[in-house]
Amino acid sequence: MSASKMNVPHEVRRQPMLINGDWVWSASGESLTVDNPGRRTVIAEVPRGGEADVDNAVRAAGKAFTTWKKVAPIERGRMLLRIADEIDRRKEELARAIAEETGNAIRTQARPEVQIASTMFRYFGGLAGELKGETLPLGHDLLSFTQREPLGVVAAVIPWNAPLMLASVKIAPALCAGNTMVMKTAEDAPLAVLLLAEICQNHLPPGVINMLSGTGTECGAPLLNHPEVAKLSFTGSSGVGKIVMEAAAKRILPVSLELGGKSPSIVYPDANEDWVVDGIVAAMRFTRQSQSCTAGSRLFLHRDIYDDFLERLAAKTRDLRVGDPLDEETDIGSIINERQFRKVCGYVQDGLDQPGSRLVMGGLPDFDGPLGEGYYMRPTAFAQAGNDWRLAREEIFGPVLVAIPWTDEDEVIRMANDSHYGLAAYIWTHDIGRAMRAARDVEAGWVQVNQGGGQIAGQSYGGYKQSGLGREFSLAAMLDSYTQVKNITVNLTR
Ligand code: NAD
Repeated sequence: MSASKMNVPHEVRRQPMLINGDWVWSASGESLTVDNPGRRTVIAEVPRGGEADVDNAVRAAGKAFTTWKKVAPIERGRMLLRIADEIDRRKEELARAIAEETGNAIRTQARPEVQIASTMFRYFGGLAGELKGETLPLGHDLLSFTQREPLGVVAAVIPWNAPLMLASVKIAPALCAGNTMVMKTAEDAPLAVLLLAEICQNHLPPGVINMLSGTGTECGAPLLNHPEVAKLSFTGSSGVGKIVMEAAAKRILPVSLELGGKSPSIVYPDANEDWVVDGIVAAMRFTRQSQSCTAGSRLFLHRDIYDDFLERLAAKTRDLRVGDPLDEETDIGSIINERQFRKVCGYVQDGLDQPGSRLVMGGLPDFDGPLGEGYYMRPTAFAQAGNDWRLAREEIFGPVLVAIPWTDEDEVIRMANDSHYGLAAYIWTHDIGRAMRAARDVEAGWVQVNQGGGQIAGQSYGGYKQSGLGREFSLAAMLDSYTQVKNITVNLTR
């Protein structure tokens, strides 16, 4: 993303934003440009939304709420199912949009992300009938029951790293539960989500979903602080998450936060096998340039297998092809932008400068030709790392792994938990007792044993500690995050 004053070539398309069913530009007339980080070209202009646009969108969502909440849940669900079908029909268009603006490889990342998005709409669309309450047995002459009611206008703010999935996992449950929404897209990746908004708008009444583009401070902040918003739902960094929570505190609003991570992968001595190496590559999300909140970026390797395992890992990652995100042969695309690229390179330099550190693979970028001019990096790992290194404590959000040796089970759990994050964890062993002890003791909202997969519809996903608050992806998450419970008690004798 860069500001509007940049010289924009003529072929760059102008993509408006969605307010109240209309495709509009920002009230100020200002724009942001969107880049393809894989080719370092400007691909689009979007509106630079501000306070006036936020106000229009929230008012439209508020008006739409008065009728949307009365639509029978099953009918709302049907609309979500139609959205899922259209996402499937337009999957290639969506995948291309994701790959172009995020730099994520089309084959390994963008197409699977579209699949998750349609699954989200289908999953929540099918759950509309589950917005149920309870009856309370208070006695023969009392009828006491609860009902679940929507909250109102949900303000949602999302990041760029998996934009379509992160948008879908908020839009589908919020709308299914009878809320309306104003979402702010990420500066670096608004296009696929604006396309998703177009698909949603084909099946929804005006104002139910409103999709804005703009910066965090100019558009995100007024949205979070708008007096007619009833709920805040945020995915992004823990730093901005704290700002979101402050905004919620001012008006005692319910808030959901999906934040950063520094997740441990614990490999036991009986797991020195190729499938575990594949699992570590998957858990580290190397094929998404590790720009993932759930990246297993602290690899705790038992000392008995330490060197051998790292050799296998280095050999495995050498097979992964770094290249243009739109090339079908590419496994690993490009980092999102120059700022992030420089930041990740800074961490690599920091690792190289650590006394006693050993670079196992990757390192600072050394590409020739076009890749040398782009934001491309190879999977990188440092051996003999300490859990106190900056690289082991801070979320890098890039393909830099630290491998930390261990011998004692209590010690490795203590190191794994020595973090202010607690999003995900990965345990690798054939020994079920060890696996279950580690899964029990590790402080993370999501633990996987012997696999490094992505989120699945139906699991309650979310973080411990500073990785977040609230859950997404499940029925329980929809009920807890997007409804409020009312108790009604009726005296039947009067
Ligand atoms: P970010 O926090 O910088 O930005 C996220 C969004 O917040 C963007 O849309 C941005 O414009 C907006 N924003 C920034 N400042 C704001 C403000 N003051 N008021 C309102 N909105 C503001 O994060 P990012 O760099 O875009 O994304 C990477 C982060 O997101 C990482 O920390 C990653 O772990 C996290 N993340 C978490 C999950 C999860 O499910 N837990 C998923 C994906 C990404």
